Amino acid sequence: MSVGLVPTMGALHEGHLSLVRRARAECDRVVVSIFVNPTQFGPTEDYATYPRTLDADLSALEQLGVDAAFSPSAEAMYPPGGITSVHIQGTLGGSLEAVSRPGHLDGVALVVTKLFVAARPDRAYFGAKDAQQCAMVTRLAADLDTGVAVIECPTVRDSDGVALSSRNAYLDAGQRARAGAIPAGLAAAACRFGAGQRAALELLSPVRAALETAGLDIDYVALVEPDGFTDVEIAGPGCKILVAATIGSTRLIDTLRLGVDEAPLVCGAPQQECNGSS
Ligand code: AMP
Repeated sequence: MSVGLVPTMGALHEGHLSLVRRARAECDRVVVSIFVNPTQFGPTEDYATYPRTLDADLSALEQLGVDAAFSPSAEAMYPPGGITSVHIQGTLGGSLEAVSRPGHLDGVALVVTKLFVAARPDRAYFGAKDAQQCAMVTRLAADLDTGVAVIECPTVRDSDGVALSSRNAYLDAGQRARAGAIPAGLAAAACRFGAGQRAALELLSPVRAALETAGLDIDYVALVEPDGFTDVEIAGPGCKILVAATIGSTRLIDTLRLGVDEAPLVCGAPQQECNGSS
């Protein structure tokens, strides 16, 4: 009897549900956790205001035939007096998200470890959009001999290419339109990669340009190898372009897996560049 686990923070959208459907297709029993995990939020971040839509989430999960939904309170997950943490080291634990959001990856590692112990899954499903989280959990599952297979699932996008995210709800209409610069930039990079370009500078420059033109506040734009997340100068298949940028007070991240993901957009400026240059 195989068990699939899909950890989420709720406010479920089609991205989450794609993970649930895959788990449903591949496992005998499917468990979905809905838990806005306080240990992965920094003191100035949006823990208090993070969208919480439990009733709608539960009915969506019921419709998909999920066997169990686990929605514990913060007090139940973290009783007072707890002294145990999980610390991620190395490049994965010390770069990109770990720098921008100190303590975030360790908080994710702690809750995922607890969820693995609670649900004893055979497989756990994570989204490729949150690339560093997915790579970190893959390594954690191996390092702690959990026996859990971590399955990386493709990013589900809106019709304009913007990756679905619970935090998109924070964006007003103008900000939402500007968020389109992220997939547009990634699409331009995908086109260049498809045309044979392998140099990091050439792959990342259209991404930066798209974000800057739209007035997004760039946190990082990086090209990394898929396992350890070290920067690379020359891209190979499976290398990832990672983007983190802020619009107003909303921080969005996105990922393109070179040679794996389709270009996020099918029309518009990036396609012209695709046909015309590099
Ligand atoms: P969250 O609720 O944001 O913690 O996300 C729960 C899981 O859903 C994580 O593994 C995310 O990577 C995944 N996820 C979030 N957005 C998407 C998306 N647009 N497409 C696919 N998976 C996603």
